[in-house]
Amino acid sequence: MNVGCNGAVDNPGQRIGRNRTQQEAHAMNLMLLGAQGSGKGTQGALLASRFGLVLCASGDMLREAMAQDTLIGQQVRPYVDQGNLVPDELMIGMVLERLRGLKDVRGIILDGFPRTLAQAQSLDARLAEMGTSIAQVIYLEVPRELLLSRLLDRYICRAHGHIYNLKTNPPKTPGICDIDGSELYQRVDDQGEQIQQRLNIFFSETLQLTDYYGKQGKLITVDGTQSIEVVNQAILADLKVTDR
Ligand code: ADP
Repeated sequence: MNVGCNGAVDNPGQRIGRNRTQQEAHAMNLMLLGAQGSGKGTQGALLASRFGLVLCASGDMLREAMAQDTLIGQQVRPYVDQGNLVPDELMIGMVLERLRGLKDVRGIILDGFPRTLAQAQSLDARLAEMGTSIAQVIYLEVPRELLLSRLLDRYICRAHGHIYNLKTNPPKTPGICDIDGSELYQRVDDQGEQIQQRLNIFFSETLQLTDYYGKQGKLITVDGTQSIEVVNQAILADLKVTDR
């Protein structure tokens, strides 16, 4: 699975800073906001590898816990399978615990967390305790009809979570991941009613976080309807960061 946020960095030689204070002052913490199917996972992976950041995808953490059948995995499964939000106290505990374990990294990219105001406030408070903060928030804007068709065509690789779209980004061999040869599957929650439910929650609840981070002067809005490459270029053009 493509489970980030475990403290590992791809290229430890690229860590910045010689001491904790210097590091935190330069931390490059980014957040991806966007509805299901807006391209957060795809863009998050591109940005993480370009800048040497640790990708923290809340959905991957939950799927990992469910696959390992941990106590938390058992608690969250009913919510995830039905396309509902996992309750804040469970979610906040899980993600903030992972963040605590992240020391000595160049920065993080959050994908899928926060999704509620309570989550955003807890995150900000925890980062402040750690002497750091979110630098910029990238909102990938995509209209609902397009999200729906993207989700219905979305397939994921079993081994590492690489993402395909049968129409716009198909694998070379049907049903097989180009990168690692593993089987492609459709998520249980990428079907029918669960998709509508997840999109309803995004537009009624999570979208308000664009205001929250807009007021902090951190929001970058990018047109997510374009190709992967064009969206990536648009993000890079607006990010106030330097290559590693
Ligand atoms: P998507 O963004 O397409 O819903 P994810 O893999 O990010 O996919 O999340 C899958 C599911 O995990 C969500 O539908 C929800 O049930 C749960 N989940 C993930 N992140 C959160 C969060 N921050 N708060 C509550 N539930 C979450």
